[in-house]
Amino acid sequence: MKHAVSIATLILPLLLQAADPVFVLPTPNRSLFDHTEEGNQSFFAPTTSGIWQSGRYGCTRTSGWQFHEGIDILHTQRDRRGEPTDPIYAAADGIICYVNDNSGLSNYGRYLILGHKIEGIEIYTLYAHLNQIEPGVVLGRKVLAGATLGRMGRSSNAAGIAKYRAHLHFEIAMVINEHFDHWFAQRKPGQTNDHGPWNGRNLIGLDPEDIYKEQSKLGSQFSLLKYIQEQETYFTVLTTAGDFPWIKRDSALMQPSDTNTDQAYEISFNAYGLPTRYRCVELPAESPSQGWKLIQVNEAIHKAYKCSKKITGKPGAYRLTETANEWLDLLTYRMTP
Ligand SMILES: [Zn+2]
Repeated sequence: MKHAVSIATLILPLLLQAADPVFVLPTPNRSLFDHTEEGNQSFFAPTTSGIWQSGRYGCTRTSGWQFHEGIDILHTQRDRRGEPTDPIYAAADGIICYVNDNSGLSNYGRYLILGHKIEGIEIYTLYAHLNQIEPGVVLGRKVLAGATLGRMGRSSNAAGIAKYRAHLHFEIAMVINEHFDHWFAQRKPGQTNDHGPWNGRNLIGLDPEDIYKEQSKLGSQFSLLKYIQEQETYFTVLTTAGDFPWIKRDSALMQPSDTNTDQAYEISFNAYGLPTRYRCVELPAESPSQGWKLIQVNEAIHKAYKCSKKITGKPGAYRLTETANEWLDLLTYRMTP
């Protein structure tokens, strides 16, 4: 934990309201905006499959069954030894929340996370597989969009990344629960968590490619809050779990409701399980035994997003998977005093 700023200390006063535009690209690679096949091939680093689409966010791997939580941005510069030298830039104004400079501790390798306050919501950007982190990049420091954070590399604790596909793995994400490390210690006794709340399992990513393109299209009209709220709903859950951290932190995602009680919430999730909207609802006559229950599933999304793995069963008899139940357990987890 010596390389971590606890999420509790970063809340509001330290976080900056982002300037316009919200996000800049995190490397010198600009081919994303070419909108051509060649542009995509120059922008996205493919997996060993060689298919550029596998560098995109979403159900882009293993014939659609594997989720890629960010985008892999291909290098544009190399030194004599063929190592990438692209500088890595802060994607938005923010503060440095986490630095992992021990590449052996994560398949992200050497990585860092910035925290941003954008339109009332806490957003995090993650920069992975770095070769080097700038000496001035220290926890708690404020950075402006475009500031150099380090240099692209190929670091990872897993199988090596070949030079030809050296890339930045980049995520725009939300934190699920700031008490992740307590949840993990309780639910996964004996397992190791080297990264406190900054474990990749506690981050849920949005699609950076889509965000950059929307922002480019809409200019100053782009609203990240609106973008999140307007995500198509995959499934809806009713929970009686009470004021868990997400509800308190990202109250901007709360929808108007007929009831003022906060005894139960209806939560809408997007295709990848990101909670996008909340609404207070009346306490149901029969409380769900687990603390939540599935109330609605969008069949079209269910068919289209094989990698999501949140819902199983057939139309009329859908149920949450074990993965989804664990997800909801983490989302609604509250530390008992
Ligand atoms: Zn990646």
